[in-house]
Amino acid sequence: MEKSGRKEFVITTNDRHYLPFHNPQQRTWDGPFYFIQAADTQLGFQERCVEGRKDPGWTKEVEWTRQMVKDINKIKPRPKFLVICGDLLDAYPETLATTRLLQEEDLKKELLSLEIPLVCVCGNHDVGDIPTPSTVASYRASFGDDFFSFWCGGVFFLVVNSQYYQDSTKVEILAAEQEAWLEHQLEQVVHQKPKHCVVFQHIPYFISSPEEDDEYFNLPKQLRDNLLSRLYKAGVRYIFCGHYHRNAGGQYLDMEEVVTSAVGAQLGPDTNGFRIVKVLHDKVEHTYYALGNAPTHIDLTQGTENN
Ligand SMILES: [Zn+2]
Repeated sequence: MEKSGRKEFVITTNDRHYLPFHNPQQRTWDGPFYFIQAADTQLGFQERCVEGRKDPGWTKEVEWTRQMVKDINKIKPRPKFLVICGDLLDAYPETLATTRLLQEEDLKKELLSLEIPLVCVCGNHDVGDIPTPSTVASYRASFGDDFFSFWCGGVFFLVVNSQYYQDSTKVEILAAEQEAWLEHQLEQVVHQKPKHCVVFQHIPYFISSPEEDDEYFNLPKQLRDNLLSRLYKAGVRYIFCGHYHRNAGGQYLDMEEVVTSAVGAQLGPDTNGFRIVKVLHDKVEHTYYALGNAPTHIDLTQGTENN
């Protein structure tokens, strides 16, 4: 807490901008950099879902989140930012509001020690599987805008609330706002031609193939085809997601979608961890590391094997 010099969690978005990089200089490519991508800290999921406990706590997720922050703070040179791609917490805001507040307090306490900027992405557990104007408002009050964009080192990043794609029946106006905003952002990408354009969201369009059938962990096919083709045409070539609690991903033409396993509970053979993402001149490369196993020095002159 002392190291970051912050005493309380600060919301870093305003008017769909990300304040730490809200600076015209960020539009210019200044050489390779890297960032950290994580997903599903989801405080409470391990004991509630994986262990099936009646009165679930979240001490394990607190420890995992603490370890992630410790690992990230050790890496030199500094990553530009940490993005957590949704399901920050497990308790649904509508049905478990009190529990959620306690989880939120504990997550924020851990994130205060983080010594780099934090980008929050909204997951289904953060606004409910069927979001409402009130759950979205509550997310925004706790973590900031649920959709926004920013430039960092000549690269354009889009943060999307995928829950408007999953079920917008109770939030049609908000979903339409995101849609209009997205269309405008994609026009910007076409005109301003960033070095790379990267999307962050919670639910993946697909787990391993754009052709796969609809299931719980992907987005419906019709919407998937429409969005993937629009993102691709505008120039997006990388999409990073979570939600699956396993590492996965695949290609749509030469656009890569990366599904990153959880900092929190695992639903497959992976170990709790996060991804180091190198943004190089001609490509974006990434490697997943188990907690406690990340390198403490990043060499940006050398590529990595994607895994
Ligand atoms: Zn999820």
